[in-house]
Amino acid sequence: MKATETTSTVLLHHHLKTLRLPTVAAECEKVASQAAADNADHLAYLLQLTALELLEREKRSAEQRVKAARFPTIKTLETFDFAARPSVNKVLIAELMRCEYIDKKENILLVGNPGTGKSHLATALAAQACAQGYRVRFYRTTELVTALIEARDERTFLRLKANLAKLDLLVLDELGYVPASKVGAELLFDVISTAYERTSLIVTTNLPFESWTEVLGSERLTGATLDRLTHRCRIIETKGESYRLHDAKARTRRSTAKKSDQPVDDGPASR
Ligand code: ADP
Ligand code: MG
Repeated sequence: MKATETTSTVLLHHHLKTLRLPTVAAECEKVASQAAADNADHLAYLLQLTALELLEREKRSAEQRVKAARFPTIKTLETFDFAARPSVNKVLIAELMRCEYIDKKENILLVGNPGTGKSHLATALAAQACAQGYRVRFYRTTELVTALIEARDERTFLRLKANLAKLDLLVLDELGYVPASKVGAELLFDVISTAYERTSLIVTTNLPFESWTEVLGSERLTGATLDRLTHRCRIIETKGESYRLHDAKARTRRSTAKKSDQPVDDGPASR
């Protein structure tokens, strides 16, 4: 009896490996003892095991989507201080976290000065899209433009374009930090117009609309780019001073207040 059990267990693990069910393989014996103790029937046992496999599979593919998105840093909404950025509508952000804009192929434009949380919000929104099963890629705009220029005359260009076409959400961070060359601006326009009504875009920029011509070069291209980008678009303005500056000032204020409250401590050297 013991020998048969061992043989069937080995065979079972072999089948589970062939069927690529690693979680079922890892959990089947433990869940079987629990099912026996609970007097659960065979179908309940099978249901529990398949649910575990599915859960693990979803977790793994969410992790893979985050990896494929290539976020420079992971930021979440939990660490975003809305009180410090009153121009950002918390209710709107909560609505956008549901990702319906991606199904509707709508865009999000985050506009504001450097350090005001644009990339933070863009990353938090895009990471949520990964968690919900959407294919996402985060690019610094200059990085994408450089990749497109470099790939332009090669077969890799088509591959890059095909990869962009597969996305549900494309993040273009820091559009406008450096003026694009004529070719760069045209390639960027091509990405934005290809995405139009097919792939959602999140664009962050420190540029007010009237300055976009300085970056894209021509009035015609700027008009056409803004037309596509802002049609069906949520605009979020992160008004005010840099968060880092605000944070540094608050820390200075706290430490000054502390010093004036407390007796001066000259540190261990004076003791
Ligand atoms: P931007 O992209 O607008 O230049 P970032 O999103 O990179 O600014 O923000 C700069 C730094 O400040 C980041 O580390 C970010 O996490 C932090 N930060 C900005 N705004 C907030 C905020 N409202 N709450 C918490 N951290 C913030
Ligand atoms: Mg940024």
